[in-house]
Amino acid sequence: MLACPNCKSKDLGKIGVNQYYCWNCFIELTVSKGTILTHQVEEDGTLSSLDDLFSDDERTISM
Ligand SMILES: [Zn+2]
Repeated sequence: MLACPNCKSKDLGKIGVNQYYCWNCFIELTVSKGTILTHQVEEDGTLSSLDDLFSDDERTISM
């Protein structure tokens, strides 16, 4: 089960193929090859990566 690496919430909305949005902390999650990539949507609409905030363990999907 996919959970947000930032807030551990499972309240994720699907916004595209392998793309999810966390309704709890408002970050975008992209799933790629078993790893979750995290992005924050800035006020001007650009995406900034949050991956540095998480360890590889936290961003790996455990099936
Ligand atoms: Zn979250």
